[in-house]
Amino acid sequence: MNYVFKKIDQEQELSKEDIVCLLALKDEQELARLYDRADRVRQKYVGDEVHLRGLIEFSNYCRKNCNYCGIRRGNRKLQRYRMSAEEILATVAVAERLGYKTVVLQSGEDMYYTVGKLVDIIRRIKQEADVAITLSIGERSREEYERLHEAGADRFLIRFETSNRELYSRLHPDSDYDERMQILVWLKEIGYQVGSGVMIGLPGQTLEDLAMDILKFRELDLDMVGVGPYICHEETPLAGNANGTVEMTFKVIALTRIVTRDAHIPATTALATLRPTDGREKALELGANVVMPNVTPAKYRALYELYPAKVCIGEEAEQCQACMHGRIYSLGRPISQGYGHSFKRAHLLPQSRCGN
Ligand code: SAH
Ligand code: SF4
Repeated sequence: MNYVFKKIDQEQELSKEDIVCLLALKDEQELARLYDRADRVRQKYVGDEVHLRGLIEFSNYCRKNCNYCGIRRGNRKLQRYRMSAEEILATVAVAERLGYKTVVLQSGEDMYYTVGKLVDIIRRIKQEADVAITLSIGERSREEYERLHEAGADRFLIRFETSNRELYSRLHPDSDYDERMQILVWLKEIGYQVGSGVMIGLPGQTLEDLAMDILKFRELDLDMVGVGPYICHEETPLAGNANGTVEMTFKVIALTRIVTRDAHIPATTALATLRPTDGREKALELGANVVMPNVTPAKYRALYELYPAKVCIGEEAEQCQACMHGRIYSLGRPISQGYGHSFKRAHLLPQSRCGN
C-alpha cells in the first residue's frame, strides 16, 4: 500500500489495480491517509473556494425508463409537473438574488420542451440574469445540442452512469452505451464545459467497474464529475435492492480527485440524503469543491423524486442558501463569487462568459 501512496505523492498515474486496492481499503488510518491526499490535490489544483450552483428541476416528465430512476416513464403513481418559461425565469431570479452565479436546468427527457422553447428560455435567462447556464436534460441530437450552445448554454451534465457495458444495458432498456459516450464527445466538440459521472453501489457493480469509471473520467478529460450513491426507489424494477454506501462514495470522490486533479466535483444531494448531518461537509474535505443547492419552487420538489427521501424537499430556496453557507463556512472555506467555470478551459471561453 505504501507503494501506491508513493505514486500518489509523486503524481504518477494510478493503474486500475492501484485504484481497486484503494477502493478496497477498510483500515481507518489508511482511509484517513487517502482522504488527506485527496484534500491536498484539491487544494493544489482547484483551491479552497467552494462553487455554488442553483439547481432548478423544471420538469419531471421523462420519455425514458431507466431501471433505477423514480421519475421513469413507467412510474404511473407519480404526479407529473412542468414549469413554464415564466416560472423558470422567476426561479432564476431567485437564484441570482441568493448569489448563485450558475443555474443548472435539470429535467427528465421531456420533449415538450422543444429545442425552440429551450433556446427561447436560455436567451431570456442570459438577457435578464448574470449567470452561467448548465443544462442537464438528457439525450438530444447533435444539432439540438449545437443550437442550445449557440443560444448561450455554457455547460452540459450527462452521466454515463457506469462504464460497464453489460451493466449499462441491464439498467437502460431504452438507451445505448455507445450513443451515450458519443454524446460526451459531441458536447466537447461543440464547446460545452462537460460534466459526467456515475452512480455508486448499482446492483451487480464491482470494484473493478468503479476503477474503470474513474479511469474513464480521466480519459474523457471531463470538466466536472458528479458521483453519488445509488438509492433504491420502490416504484422501479430495482425495488428491494440495497443502496450504495456513503463510505464507498467517499472513496470514489477521493480517487476521482486524485486521478482527475482539476475537475469540478460536487458533494451530491444523493450523498446528503444518505448522510444528512455531514455528508456534504465530509465530501468537501476529501476532494469535492462544488455544492448544488436546490432552488426548485418548494411545491415541486417532492415530485422530482429520482430516489426517495431526498434531503431538503421541504425547504424554501432561502433556507437552503443559509444552510449551505453555514455548512461551508464551518469548514473555513470561502464561497466563490465567480461563475466557477472549468479550470481546464477558462482561457478558451469568450470574454463575456469568463468570470474566473
Ligand atoms: N434525465 C437526465 C437528468 C436527470 S436524471 C439524465 O438522465 O441525464 C439525473 C441523474 O440522477 C442521473 O444521471 C442518475 O445518475 C441520477 N439518478 C437517477 N435515479 C437515481 C437513483 N435511484 N439513485 C441515485 N441517483 C439517481
Ligand atoms: Fe429519465 Fe434521467 Fe431518470 Fe433516466 S435517469 S428515467 S433519463 S430522468
